[in-house]
Amino acid sequence: MSSHLLSVDSLSRDHVDHLLRVAARMEPIASRRQVTRVLEGAVLGNLFFEASTRTRVSFNAAFCRLGGSVCDTTGFTFSSMAKGESLYDTSRVMSGYCDAIVMRHPDQGSVAEFAAATHVPVINGGDGPGEHPSQALLDLYTIDKEFARLGKKLAGAHILLTGDLKYGRTVHSLIKLLSLFEPMRITLVSPPGLEMPGQVIDRAVSRGHRVEQRDSLAGDFSDLDVVYTTRIQKERFTEEMSESFAGVSQDFSVGRDFLDTRCNDTTIVMHPLPRDSRPGANDLNVDLNGDPRLAIFRQTDNGIPMRMAIFATLLQVEELIEKDLRPVRWFVPERTGVDDPHS
Ligand code: ASP
Repeated sequence: MSSHLLSVDSLSRDHVDHLLRVAARMEPIASRRQVTRVLEGAVLGNLFFEASTRTRVSFNAAFCRLGGSVCDTTGFTFSSMAKGESLYDTSRVMSGYCDAIVMRHPDQGSVAEFAAATHVPVINGGDGPGEHPSQALLDLYTIDKEFARLGKKLAGAHILLTGDLKYGRTVHSLIKLLSLFEPMRITLVSPPGLEMPGQVIDRAVSRGHRVEQRDSLAGDFSDLDVVYTTRIQKERFTEEMSESFAGVSQDFSVGRDFLDTRCNDTTIVMHPLPRDSRPGANDLNVDLNGDPRLAIFRQTDNGIPMRMAIFATLLQVEELIEKDLRPVRWFVPERTGVDDPHS
C-alpha cells in the first residue's frame, strides 16, 4: 500500500486482505470494550469541502479511538480556499500541523493533487464523482462479515449495484475492489444516462467477472446475495439534467416488496447512506427498517474498525495494537440502536 489512500487502484489483493484482518483486530476497540492509546500524540487533519456526516465523524472517531486527536474544517466558506489558496499551499500548510489528513472535495482528482504536495499520508474521503476508497473497504468488510454469518462465500456470489452508478463514487470504488476477488456475478441497474463508467466494467470483465447491465429492477433476483443501492447524486447534475431526471421512476426504489417477492431470505441490503427518506424519494425504502436483511447500520458501524485499520496501516502501528489494550471504564449500552437485535 502506498503512503496515501487515494484510489482502490493502489491496492493489491494482499493489501486488502491485510486491511480486513487488521479491521477484525480493531473490533474490541471499535465496539467499546477495549481502549488503546497507540496513536497518542498524533494529530489528524479532517478537511471536508463537501457535505458529510458519516465519513467525517467516523474518520474522526476512528482516530480518537486509536488515542489520537483531530482538527477539522468544513466547507469552503471558512477555509483559506475561499481566499484563493491553492491545493498545493493548503497541503503544505496542513502537513506542518498534522500526521495524517483526510480530505473530501467536490472535484475529481483534487485529493490526488493535494496528496502530490505532501509526504504526510492523505486519505481520499471522496473526490466529486471520482472515488471513495475507504467506503468501498468498509463495504467489502461488511459483505465479508455478513457472508461469514450466513455461511456464504464471495466467490460466485451475485451482487446487484443499483441507483446512480455514473456519479456515485462509492460504487466506482466498490466494483474495482470486488474485481480483485474470485469471479462473481455483478448486475448493474441504473436509470438510462446514469450507467457505470465503461472502463470500470471492462476491468471487472477482464478479471473474469460476469457483468450484466440493465435499466430496470424488473425480473427475478432469487439467487441474489447483496443488493447495494445508491442515492441519485442530484448535486452533480446540471440544470438540464435535473429537469430530465425529475421524474426518475420509483422503479429504482428498493423496498420490502422487492425483497420479499423477488429476492430471498438471506439477500442483504446495503447503502453507503445518506438515503433520502422523504416521502416520494426514489431511494432505499424505510419500510425495510427492522428487517434483519437490512445491513445499513451494521455497515456504518463497520466504518470505525475499517478506518482504524487504514490509519494503523498508513501510520505503521498495526503490530502495536494488542500491546496497548485496557478495558473501557464508562457505561456502554448493550445494544446501540432500538431496532438492533440482541446479541
Ligand atoms: N456518502 C456517500 C458519498 O459521500 C454516498 C452519497 O453521498 O450518496 O459518496
